[in-house]
Amino acid sequence: MKYLFALTLLFVTQVQAQQSSFHVLAFYSETVEHDHVDFAHQAIVFYSEVSKRRHFDFTTTTRWDDLNTENLAHYQLVIWLDDQPHTPQQRSAFEHYMEHGGGWLGFHIAAYNDRDTRWPWFVRFLGGAVFYGNNWPPLPAQVSVDDHAFPLTKNLPASFQSPPNEWYSWKPSPRLDKDVKVLLTLSPSNFPLGLKDTIEGGEVPIVWTNTRYRMLYLNMGHGDRIFSSNIQNRLFEEVIPWLATTPPKHNGH
Ligand code: ZN
Repeated sequence: MKYLFALTLLFVTQVQAQQSSFHVLAFYSETVEHDHVDFAHQAIVFYSEVSKRRHFDFTTTTRWDDLNTENLAHYQLVIWLDDQPHTPQQRSAFEHYMEHGGGWLGFHIAAYNDRDTRWPWFVRFLGGAVFYGNNWPPLPAQVSVDDHAFPLTKNLPASFQSPPNEWYSWKPSPRLDKDVKVLLTLSPSNFPLGLKDTIEGGEVPIVWTNTRYRMLYLNMGHGDRIFSSNIQNRLFEEVIPWLATTPPKHNGH
């Protein structure tokens, strides 16, 4: 009987070890723009559910000092839901993590940068993208899939409506970086997009990966309706195992 119990315990331990195949740490802030906090709270609920279905460990924190090399060593993927690091120590820990095979998923404001950001490494990491403009108020948008052969987009329709969001445009566009793979772009039919602030046109990538890293950026992340599209939710879900398991094309490290 004792032997059977030990055997059962061994089996359970092994199953648990197999089930938590990777570890994800999501950073967010409670003190940023209200619409971004709303998104972060919903994202935490969403990814907690996804973590049970997909069998990974999902942890959240509002302490951005957790962005340090010792702590990051425990995680295959970090997510920035509504903010980004602000101290030199947090930034350099993130650089070190990503240059040594770490994984990153950023939403919306996570990639925001302008001339006051003063973090050139991060701009290169994003494929050169610098914030240029946005629409206001938040609006739904028709989005187009750039490449259906890509693992993350092959199950998406050619075009779909993404729920109301504050969309950003970028100048320069990350598409100019030869290592960037753009997955979703605002369809031309949206333009001009906005009332108070308007995105007039041009090519506006909203989801991309810089293939030099294990990273992906999603421009969605403003307000409490982002998770109202099943099509988009599937992308939000599938991106996690993809990021956790796909090595970068070439990183030089
Ligand atoms: Zn916003």
